[in-house]
Amino acid sequence: MGRIEISGATAVLPIIGRPVAQVKAPMVFNRFFEERNIDCVTTALELKDVAADAFIQSIRGMTNSFGYIATVPHKQRSAAACDELSDRGAFLGAVNLIRREPDGRLVGDMTDGLGCVEAMRRHGQEPKGKAAFVIGVGGAGSAIAHALLEAGVASLNIVDAQTGRAETLRDRLVKAFPKAIIDPKNADMGTLDIVVNASPVGMNGDPGMPADLHGIKPGALVADVVTNPADTPWLKSAREKGCICQTGLEMVAGQFDLMARHFGFQID
Ligand code: NAD
Repeated sequence: MGRIEISGATAVLPIIGRPVAQVKAPMVFNRFFEERNIDCVTTALELKDVAADAFIQSIRGMTNSFGYIATVPHKQRSAAACDELSDRGAFLGAVNLIRREPDGRLVGDMTDGLGCVEAMRRHGQEPKGKAAFVIGVGGAGSAIAHALLEAGVASLNIVDAQTGRAETLRDRLVKAFPKAIIDPKNADMGTLDIVVNASPVGMNGDPGMPADLHGIKPGALVADVVTNPADTPWLKSAREKGCICQTGLEMVAGQFDLMARHFGFQID
């Protein structure tokens, strides 16, 4: 393994967002490229909306790029610009992975939710048949809700601080998963196997808790999407109650193979 010497032949796989200082993709992908001797580099571009729109059009003609990774707030405009979307990308109206085909077409997929579910499996927790609760159903939360239903949870509660957001998502999800029990209200903690904080509560030193874990079963899985800090006050509280704790960084790691495959890189 050696550092990639960036040359005129080096391909690019940028990540776009705003802000971007917190993103993990440059470290994760550049290490992957170095380990495999792939002549490619990932760097973060902080783009205003108008610049992101121009970037998305120009990457079609960027012949030394595999495509790009999108983070907040550019996932929705990326989905709208894609020529082809995975079913989940189309459902969510948001994508984080955009592959550039040789003819300049853009193909999008969304792996945030799959990463969260994969991280659960790495904890030995298979969601199929379980009772789950997702708190916050914005970009990440709706992707996680969708992925949990795809994985076959028996029931799913969803809530959001924004009035009507959980109900709107429920109405859309029941059409895609007609047999699932989906309730847009708080769940009794004692009945749950999986609880996910998909809101920004607890981020960047915020001492807040997204929900009171009182009554939760020891051994239930409590997951947080927040990556900074990895060990949020909520996860600390869950650990004290004997729960299995899953961090936002584990969710990032859980989707790496899917991300690499989307761009056509071989994974052992
Ligand atoms: P978003 O703004 O699209 O959604 C956040 C949602 O949380 C909103 O709908 C908001 O109303 C809701 N919310 C806020 N406070 C709440 C509360 N107290 N109770 C219930 N709902 C509440 O943001 P997003 O893109 O979904 O990102 C959310 C968090 O997820 C951020 O911290 C982001 O950094 C993180 N994230 C992590 C990963 C990962 O791989 N670990 C991936 C994407 C996003």
